[in-house]
Amino acid sequence: MNCLFCKIIEKNISAKTVYEDDRVLAFEDINPQAPVHVLVIPKKHISTALEITSEDNELIGYMFQVANKIAKDRNVAERGFRLLMNCNRESGQTVFHIHLHLLAGRVMHWPPG
Ligand code: 5GP
Ligand code: ZN
Repeated sequence: MNCLFCKIIEKNISAKTVYEDDRVLAFEDINPQAPVHVLVIPKKHISTALEITSEDNELIGYMFQVANKIAKDRNVAERGFRLLMNCNRESGQTVFHIHLHLLAGRVMHWPPG
């Protein structure tokens, strides 16, 4: 499968790992949009949020727990942070392996562009 994030999971492409276990990987975004910009991905290949099924409920919840832990470790939990997942073209999704963006360290705008 020609998936960039699967290649990162397999260590065929390097990334700055923030956290890793048997179910998820978190790494620094290559083009950070905030002082903290970490991507949390499942090791299971799921191409978009639309492909998430009830089988993945535990995994998706766990991705949020990992993101929360990273936010606390980076001392941005109390200030605030944004967790988001883009889905398909108009949202701006460019990598078709689901990823939770953890953005923090600056004031976030709303509505997002
Ligand atoms: P999307 O636009 O799909 O929601 O987010 C994809 C994200 O992956 C972007 O923020 C982009 O900067 C990041 N990204 C794309 N290619 C790479 C890469 O090779 N390494 C890392 N660490 N991040 C990447
Ligand atoms: Zn993948």
